[in-house]
Order: sequence, then C-alpha cells, then structure tokens
Amino acid sequence: MGTKGREIVGMDVDKLVELLNKAYADEWLAYYQYWVGAKVAKGPMRGAVVSELMEHADEELKHAGMLTERIIQLGGTPILKPEDWYKMTNCGYDAPEDPSVEAVVKQNIKGEQCAIGVYSDLIETIKDTDPVTYNMAVDILEDEVEHEEDLQAILEDMKMMKGR
Ligand code: FE
Ligand code: FE
Ligand code: MG
Repeated sequence: MGTKGREIVGMDVDKLVELLNKAYADEWLAYYQYWVGAKVAKGPMRGAVVSELMEHADEELKHAGMLTERIIQLGGTPILKPEDWYKMTNCGYDAPEDPSVEAVVKQNIKGEQCAIGVYSDLIETIKDTDPVTYNMAVDILEDEVEHEEDLQAILEDMKMMKGR
C-alpha cells in the first residue's frame, strides 16, 4: 500500500491486520458452511432454501475478497493456509451433520449473529482511526444483517407451514 495510505491509519496496523485476518477466516468458513449446507439440505422448501443459501455463500466469498484486498493494501498477508482458518476464526464452523433444511438454516442464523457481533465490534474499534476499513466493514455488516433477516424469514415461513 502507499505509505501515506498506511500512515493515515490511526491505530497499530499489525493489530488491525490481525483483526481483518480473523474476519477473513470467518468468511471462508461461513462460505463453506453455506455451500456444503446447500448441497446436503433436505426437506420442505428445499428449493427456496438452497437458492438463498447459495446466494449467501457467494456473498461470504465476496466478503473474503474485500478483506484480502484491504489486508494487502495495509501491507499485511492474508491467511495462506486453510488450517489457520480454524486457529483464527471468531465464529467457528458448524458442520451440517443434521441435513434437515431447518437445522441448516438455524446453524447459519447462529453464524450470521456471530458475524454481526464481529463487524459491529470492528466498526467500534476503527470508527475514529481508519475510514477506509470502516466503510468496508459497514458494507459487509449490511449484508450480514440482511442474511440474518432472510434466514429468520424462512424459518418463520416453515413454522407457518407446520402450523397449518
Ligand atoms: Fe460475510
Ligand atoms: Fe452472512
Ligand atoms: Mg439473502
């Protein structure tokens, strides 16, 4: 990154890169959790749920891309080994061992709620120190809020179908 671009960051850049790498690990794990969940999901409303899960998978991958770009701009290195995703993650990984669509949706809601917490904390940490990362984190947070809402709406629809 340009030296001036790095200079305007009002906090320890290595610490910031570490926070971004932790979020980056979360995004890859979230991507895979959605992606493989969409493959194995079974049950009512499968078609609608699978297309939503695949859409979210794409968006998590896009978030990973945004984070890598910023990490590199800051002179950092994105996590190079997938095994380090597990060491760095905030939100972990929930294997979709129960393939019922309801269980898969609930697991992903939990993941989104964790992600919302992570990005709100990041925003709080950098709001006065790094406007560029701040804007990126707000963009990602908007997507995560939408993801949670989409999945909770699906769960509501499922409950209504059962109640009939
Ligand atoms: Fe994400
Ligand atoms: Fe998400
Ligand atoms: Mg959606």
